Amino acid sequence: MLDTVDRSTARTAGEGLAAGNVIDGRTIPARSGATIDVTCPSDGAVFATIARSDAADVDAAVASARAAFETGPWARMSALERGRLLFALMDRIEQNAAELAALESRDTGKPVRQGIADVKGAMRYFEFNAGAADKLNGDQIPFLDGYTALALREPHGVVAGIIPWNYPMQILGRVAGAALAMGNTLVIKPAEDASLTTVRIAELALEAGFPPGVFNVVTGYGQEAGAPLSAHQDVDYVTFTGSPVTGTAIQQAAAVNNRGVTMELGGKSPQIVFADADLDAAMPVLVNAIIQNGGQTCSAGSRILVERPLHDEVAGRLAERFAGLVAEPHWADGDLGPLVNATQAERVNRFVAAARAAGTPVLAEGRIADDAPAAGHYVAPVLFGGVDPQSDLAREEVFGPVLSMLAFDDEAEAIRLANATDYGLVAAVWTRDGGRQFRVARAIRSGQVFVNCFGAGGGVELPFGGVKKSGHGREKGLEALRDMSATKAIVFNHG
Ligand code: NAD
Repeated sequence: MLDTVDRSTARTAGEGLAAGNVIDGRTIPARSGATIDVTCPSDGAVFATIARSDAADVDAAVASARAAFETGPWARMSALERGRLLFALMDRIEQNAAELAALESRDTGKPVRQGIADVKGAMRYFEFNAGAADKLNGDQIPFLDGYTALALREPHGVVAGIIPWNYPMQILGRVAGAALAMGNTLVIKPAEDASLTTVRIAELALEAGFPPGVFNVVTGYGQEAGAPLSAHQDVDYVTFTGSPVTGTAIQQAAAVNNRGVTMELGGKSPQIVFADADLDAAMPVLVNAIIQNGGQTCSAGSRILVERPLHDEVAGRLAERFAGLVAEPHWADGDLGPLVNATQAERVNRFVAAARAAGTPVLAEGRIADDAPAAGHYVAPVLFGGVDPQSDLAREEVFGPVLSMLAFDDEAEAIRLANATDYGLVAAVWTRDGGRQFRVARAIRSGQVFVNCFGAGGGVELPFGGVKKSGHGREKGLEALRDMSATKAIVFNHG
């Protein structure tokens, strides 16, 4: 499997590409002919275009998905055959891994090794769901004498997946893998900032043998392409990953047709470090959980809560690491790349400026590489200490390389602080005390809690999703397959 991409490939990937929509088995431009320029976050250069779709393109994609669901060979395929197609797609992704990793890296600005990790992540999602396609049983329900009652799992029908720019391939993998395994057909709307690998993977699905119309992609802006898709009367289910504000808009649109939704809306994930923690094991994880992908990760470990006796030692070790961090172009494959666009960089800089203005202590700062192109969207990593639990920095999703440290005095305060945001996606507890591991893990309001680890191994097998403002519904694991299907009860009277 791929483990490196050379710098010049990463720097020039996708040059001159004019990506289209994938509708009914063909790659075609938007009906209007309009396009959106694709810029590289590392140097601001325009290097490709994507289709600027509108409601007419969305209509065509949904019609194609509907026809494939109702009448195509897809509708008659067994779960085993669907699984085999997903395995074949995984193989195609592996055969094109270098191209996909370089393309993702240039499109998003993420370091090349993260692009490679994302290819592997996408493959793993397709692999997991391929194997699971024929393994999720329904139920036989004890019922009245003379009757047999069954609960069957059936596909929703046409699933719309609206996905963000931070991990396009991985999020595509987890959405499409589960939806296709359960027999749905798909219309994916990737983010306008990072659509290239999604289009390419839909093309690879066709090469792998997916029937036309099963896996459609329409690219474009949220308002122009995403909104008509989420409000479309012929879409049966909508799954979305992104910001809470957009999630609310999508739910309102889907509610007009009373459609089901899965919402993955980010987090403000705490890592709680008790005084008995194994700090040598924890330190690299604490740093990576906020630096990976430049902090543009829904499950970023953006708050470190430390028991007071250990506070200064953790602060010192984190500060040492932060002071050495450098934001560099994606091709340099450094600690972190630029953020995805100017809006995101400005947003993160606003959080940092507000915290500084409020007198929040800066414990350490990384830097932007001297040779980073001026037109790139670079933000230097910042470590804040003594963060006010009521501040925006402690409560809001920053989505950048900004880490907040807060001290606590006892277990009850740790739990209270961990739960003191509107979010609840992921958390970690670092302690050697077995009883405390259970107590704290149970008391944190969050979709996932890791004990003495964080996001271990990618967690494709684990149910993933939020509580509170982080959303609802579950992706990953077998739970995703349940979300991507509807239960039908059938009762036979044989008395
Ligand atoms: P966004 O939520 O607006 O965009 C995500 C996707 O939704 C994109 O494909 C976009 O085109 C689409 N979209 C936007 N408006 C839409 C609408 N009205 N109807 C249908 N689809 C629509 O995210 P953003 O503006 O790019 O980023 C803003 C913030 O969102 C970030 O700073 C971060 O806090 C958060 N975010 C979270 C995640 C996550 O993984 N949870 C991912 C990206 C961004």
